[in-house]
Amino acid sequence: MKKLTPSSFSHSAAKKFQKNDSGFVCINCGFVVPALRSSSRDHCTQCLHGLHVDINPGDRANTCLGLLEPASITAGGRKGYVIHYKCQVCGANVNNKTAADDNFEEILKICKAQQPS
Ligand SMILES: [Zn+2]
Ligand SMILES: [Zn+2]
Repeated sequence: MKKLTPSSFSHSAAKKFQKNDSGFVCINCGFVVPALRSSSRDHCTQCLHGLHVDINPGDRANTCLGLLEPASITAGGRKGYVIHYKCQVCGANVNNKTAADDNFEEILKICKAQQPS
């Protein structure tokens, strides 16, 4: 039996923890990215850059924190588009799904910039 009282959590202790679905300020373009309710927000909705924060999607367990630059985009069928990132710090390749409110102009721009294979 656990008894929780409102005073159990002091402000200073509780605020050190960030929820996975919290919004963030994009370090690439400075846009304040709002939280995504359906899943973890993993990239900027405006410039589509992300941060290398996950080892597995949404876990925020990676200490790299490098800038993820969108390199290419592929259509992922019903799930929309998949953005393929390259981390500017450790060079890892990371894939993220696009979100419903991503800047579609930017998605098209990356699609057009891709070399036809
Ligand atoms: Zn951005
Ligand atoms: Zn990295």
